[in-house]
Amino acid sequence: MKLTHQPRVALVTGAGRGIGKAIAEALAADGHTVLCVSKNPSSCGGVADAITAAGGKAKAYPVDVADPAAVAQACEAILKEFETVDILVNNAGITKDGLLIRMSDEDWGDVISTNLSSAFYWVKGLVRPMTRKRWGRIVNIGSVVGRIGNPGQANYAAAKAGMHGLTMSLAREFASRNITANTVAPGFITTDMTDKLTDEQKDVIKKTVPLQRFGTTNDIAALVDFLVSENAGYITGQVFSVDGGMAM
Ligand code: NDP
Repeated sequence: MKLTHQPRVALVTGAGRGIGKAIAEALAADGHTVLCVSKNPSSCGGVADAITAAGGKAKAYPVDVADPAAVAQACEAILKEFETVDILVNNAGITKDGLLIRMSDEDWGDVISTNLSSAFYWVKGLVRPMTRKRWGRIVNIGSVVGRIGNPGQANYAAAKAGMHGLTMSLAREFASRNITANTVAPGFITTDMTDKLTDEQKDVIKKTVPLQRFGTTNDIAALVDFLVSENAGYITGQVFSVDGGMAM
């Protein structure tokens, strides 16, 4: 059996780099129109241009996902132009690590608003037409850290665990409208986010991964691609780990 995709409109946050870029490219290759959101115009712009140059359909939206007014404004403009967004991938995220005792309120708040509240803002802005169309796919990008915790990442772990709570509630609220919501929880994936780690830290982490290596952005994109396909319509409210076996 082959995966089937009907051409849809998909929006991917954090599509300028790393995991989001791989997801945007995979969805464009399936024939979807991909709306690429990132903070800096050059990063989502570069990805949208590359997709278009390769024969796909894409448009860039530089939006600060932590700003509810900016997200609401973007949703309004997007719905005016495309009428509906069928596939929403909430992937944008940041880390601001530190032991809890020294973590500032600002670092707590920035990570919660960028990684968690942002998903609430996008769903709120885009879900109405999805409900009318009786078809939708929401994929939220969590983290292994949201499943097992991590010292120095209280803000990030709380946001990512919260992401799955949001996912399960969305799954229940919108199931009757044929909208699925699932969480994909990556382990350590090679991107700019993990490039911040020292080689020594990377070696320590690899020892905690049963498969003994970091994953690739395509490892995540492949699962997202399946979850938004026509074939995945009976899967909702789940969290899927792509983490080399870390969260068994
Ligand atoms: P990167 O740091 O490589 O890319 C992050 C993307 O998010 C960028 O495109 C960035 O925009 C965008 N972004 C960040 N803040 C904002 C904001 N306020 N508004 C709009 N866009 C924003 O991250 P990864 O690809 O590594 O991570 C993607 C997701 O996967 C994140 O949610 C992360 O938490 C999660 N994850 C990653 C893991 C890993 O090992 N890499 C492990 C587990 C989860 P711009 O390009 O403009 O800066």
